[in-house]
Amino acid sequence: MSAGRELELLSVVAPVYQEEATIDRFCAVVAEALADIPYELVLVDDGSTDETWRRLERLAAQDDRIRLIRLSRNFGHQAALTAGLDHASGNAVVMLDSDLQDPPSLIPTLLERWRAGADVVYGVRRNRSGESRFKLGTARLFYRLFHSLASVELESNSGDFRLLDRTALDALLAMRERSRFLRGMSIWVGFTQTSVPYDRDPRYAGETKFTLGRMLRFSFDAVASFSYRPLQLATALGFLISSITFLAIPVVIVLKLTGNYLYGFSTVEITILLLGGIQLITIGVIGEYVGRIFDEVKGRPLYLVRSRHNLASTTGLAERTGTEVAGED
Ligand code: UDP
Ligand code: MG
Repeated sequence: MSAGRELELLSVVAPVYQEEATIDRFCAVVAEALADIPYELVLVDDGSTDETWRRLERLAAQDDRIRLIRLSRNFGHQAALTAGLDHASGNAVVMLDSDLQDPPSLIPTLLERWRAGADVVYGVRRNRSGESRFKLGTARLFYRLFHSLASVELESNSGDFRLLDRTALDALLAMRERSRFLRGMSIWVGFTQTSVPYDRDPRYAGETKFTLGRMLRFSFDAVASFSYRPLQLATALGFLISSITFLAIPVVIVLKLTGNYLYGFSTVEITILLLGGIQLITIGVIGEYVGRIFDEVKGRPLYLVRSRHNLASTTGLAERTGTEVAGED
């Protein structure tokens, strides 16, 4: 890739869900951080039910660099982010959260790395202030698990905050899979990757939308879309238990010969229950994959757009995404 790139337009993409208390401040901070950079700010309202959309409309009316996409309902963070990336037209794209946890002031540093030739520049969180110990602990556990199971090298504590060159972005957008783990996918595409450390700030206002259930689902999506290892573990477990069973056969024969046969009753009971449990878990793991295959086969769109603002042309997008629905502009 050539060094010393020329920036024509930077697209800054952020998903927004119930951020009425944060969004004005977010746009102001971005404008301030990118004062002399040609940019567009692509904001995706992920089906907010509070004042968020009205605020966004007001902001977009004042500043036509702010482009808006409103989804038909809440599709989740990764789908909303994808919608924004689909609509970005810059030759470099930054994605970040709209709650000011990812500091927009870091964007010029990311751009510098891009100018020097990097295609994917991702932020690695040096410290995460304002997050509960529980969240930090589960995050650490997740990254460790992902590392041991999955085939992509995901750095611990790298979030979705990153800059992508147009080439890498187009590669990423060509992947329309439903179980989306964008930070893993953007590493999977390859090209030249570098990281930049940063301090993650506490949320500016409002609350996190990621409940424990949602985090778990997201984690399994991440693992399942990058690894068959859970299925292989199920097979390994099957072999292990079968071997133990084979060893038990002579034991049973000996017990029978010595007339102590009934003594084994509790062992049998425990074995049946244990095996039943293990089988159910294994079927569950397989089911997780089957469910994901089902989702892929249905081929539903990743998101539906209700309306757009300040987006001049969306031609080409429909063919690429297959997600076009009627929407006023
Ligand atoms: N978000 C979204 N859709 C959702 C949940 C969250 O677009 O269903 C957005 C939210 O507005 C924020 C970002 O995704 O900009 C990260 O969400 P949050 O701060 O709740 O997650 P956390 O930082 O706690 O992991
Ligand atoms: Mg947040």
